[in-house]
Formats: sequence, C-alpha cells, structure tokens
Amino acid sequence: MKTVLITGSTSGIGLGIAHEFAKTKQYNIIFNGLETNGQEIADEIGKEFGVGIMYSNANMLKPEELRKMVDDGIAKFGKIDVLINNAGIQHVSPIEDFPDDKWNAIIGINLTSAFYLSKAVWKGMKERKFGRIINIASAHGLVASEFKSAYVASKHGIVGFTKTLGLEGAPFNITCNAICPGYVKTPLVEKQIADQAKAHNMSPDEVVNKVMLLKQAVKEFVPVEVLGQLALLLASEGSSTITGTAIPVDGGWNAQ
Ligand code: NAD
Repeated sequence: MKTVLITGSTSGIGLGIAHEFAKTKQYNIIFNGLETNGQEIADEIGKEFGVGIMYSNANMLKPEELRKMVDDGIAKFGKIDVLINNAGIQHVSPIEDFPDDKWNAIIGINLTSAFYLSKAVWKGMKERKFGRIINIASAHGLVASEFKSAYVASKHGIVGFTKTLGLEGAPFNITCNAICPGYVKTPLVEKQIADQAKAHNMSPDEVVNKVMLLKQAVKEFVPVEVLGQLALLLASEGSSTITGTAIPVDGGWNAQ
C-alpha cells in the first residue's frame, strides 16, 4: 500500500484527484484543506473505498503546521510515497490596485508551501529510492493573462521549481512533474464566473463562453477525472523517466 498526501483535497481538483486514487484501493490518502467538513469528506471516502485516510487542516501559510502534517502522516502510515501540491487561491485585479496581502498569500499558498512540503518528504523518498511529487500548476504556469499577476507568477514559479526537483531527484528515483490545467469547474472558478459577470455586466454563460474558454480550442471545462488519471500515471512505478515536465491539460490553449 502506498501513501499519497494531497493538499487542498477537500474541494475541487484535489478532491477529484483523491477520488481517482481511492478508486484504485492502492493508496492511503492524507487529506488536507480548510473546509470545515474536511474530516467528514475524508471519512466518507475512506469508508466508501476501504482505504486508509487521515485529515489535516494544516494551513499552507504555516510551515510548522505543514511539517506536523507530514510527521503525523508518516507516524500513521509509515511513509509518504506521493506528494501532490494542489492547494491554491486566486485573486484578479489590475496591478496598480493589487492588494499586497493578496500577493503574499498567493505566492505563499501556491508556491512556497510546495517548497516546505517537498523538503519535508524528500529525505524519506531519497532513502527508499522512490518518490513522486506532482504540482498542480496551471495553463497560467506557461502563459499569462492580464490582471492575474500574482497567480501567473506563482504558477510560473512552480513550473521552475518542478524542473529543479526533477533534476535533483533523478539519482534517487524521485520524479517531479507539473500538471497545467485549463479551466476546471470548481469553487475557485465558480467565484471567478460570478465576479467577472458583475465586472463585465455579462451573464454567467457569456463569461464562460466569451471570456474564460476564449483561449481554449476545446470549449469545455477540463474534467477533474482526467487530472486524477494523469496524476495516477505520474505517481506510478513505471513513470520513472517522466520528470521535470509541465504537462498542459488545457483544451489546446497552449498550442496557440
Ligand atoms: P478550490 O477552491 O476548489 O480548492 C482549493 C483547495 O485549497 C481547498 O481545499 C482549500 O481549502 C485549499 N486551500 C486554500 N488555501 C489554503 C491554505 N491557506 N491552507 C490549506 N489549504 C488551503 O480550487 P481548485 O480549482 O480545485 O484549485 C486547486 C488547484 O488547481 C489550485 O492550485 C489552482 O490554482 C489549480 N488550478 C485550478 C484551475 C481551475 O480552473 N479550477 C485551473 C488550473 C489550475
């Protein structure tokens, strides 16, 4: 049995990925997120699929809480084989009005937490000569959009971090890859649809079709199941030669 730690896994993409891992019945899952019903969500998946679970509400902005989550996970399951850095937030604003505290929170949650957690699991992965680190970046890890300066910086940053760990992990069978999704319909995006509808005086449907999916050739939201299946592939024993990559799953956005 392997153990996967997925940050931000009590909502959206992280929860979708946790489902795909649970379905295989080959992973204990360490859940994390700030949702108040996080423990319940984790318990339900554990019961439904018969897999070991743990839940931690460690805050991505608090390094000591992140280290404790890793220590607790190792105490419970013996090791962490796969780390999925997924927790993330967004804020949309022109640069001149971009609040300083939002910039710092976005860089802290979307980028720096991955540094602390990768560092915390690294020693064990190196000793066991097996580790898989998967960073949920974004299409915005590869291209920019206006008004998302902090988010785009954090996601480009994590793509660079991914490449570095790919190189450092190579002698120890530790791989590190980034998945770069286009738009996925999660609470993070639902909020953007509502905000943009207000800002542009458009209906939610118009925002989706005229603003959000404008740059995707495939005019569909990316299903979380596809991201979960890709994460499973990257986590597998056989994927040792896939490392340092940033894989777009963005309906052709980055093909242009
Ligand atoms: P979401 O809002 O549904 O989930 C985010 C999760 O992160 C939640 O569980 C939340 O509690 C957790 N989180 C936020 N701040 C935290 C903190 N300080 N400490 C601990 N946990 C915290 O969002 P989502 O759409 O599922 O996004 C997940 C990841 O996917 C993010 O990194 C996001 O940037 C990325 N992404 C999303 C999309 C999309 O279209 N939804 C596209 C590309 C990339």
